[in-house]
Amino acid sequence: YSDEVKRAQTQSVATPGPTIFDKILSREIPADIIYEDDLCLAFNDVAPQAPVHFLVIPKRRIPRLQDAEESDKEVIVYLLELLGHLMSVARALAAPRAPLGWRLVVNNGRAGAQSVYHLHLHVLGGGRWAGRPG
Ligand code: ADP
Repeated sequence: YSDEVKRAQTQSVATPGPTIFDKILSREIPADIIYEDDLCLAFNDVAPQAPVHFLVIPKRRIPRLQDAEESDKEVIVYLLELLGHLMSVARALAAPRAPLGWRLVVNNGRAGAQSVYHLHLHVLGGGRWAGRPG
C-alpha cells in the first residue's frame, strides 16, 4: 500500500492533460474491455490485485472524484446521474463475476494513492478474496 502512495505522490497533482485512459477510450492502446455505453467504459485492470479487478471510467474526463462538482444546476444533475450510472454499471458487471462479494474503491488524490487522473471505480473481488482495497 505504501508503494502505491509513493507512486501516486510522484505524479503531478491532477493535471488537466489526457491520461492513459483517454488512449484506451480512443482505442489508441489496447485494453481488455468488458463493457461500453454512451457514458462509460469498463475494462480489466492490467495489474489485477484480486481474481476479479476491473475499472469503470466515465468517457468524460473528470480528474478526481473531488473534481466532480459544479455550480450550474443542470450540470450538477448530469454529474450526479453520471456518478450513479458508474456505480450501477460496476454493480451489474460485478454480480456475475464475483458472486460472493466485491469491493468498490475510488482512490482520490496524492494521499489517496491515485495514480491515473481520470476518475475510475475499482471493482475487486472473485473467489474468496478479501484483501485490502486497491
Ligand atoms: P493505483 O495505481 O494506486 O491503484 P489508481 O486508483 O489511479 O491508482 O489506479 C489506476 C489503475 O489503473 C491501477 O490499478 C493500474 O493497474 C491501472 N492501469 C494503468 N494502466 C492501465 C492500462 N493500460 N490498462 C488497464 N489498467 C491500467
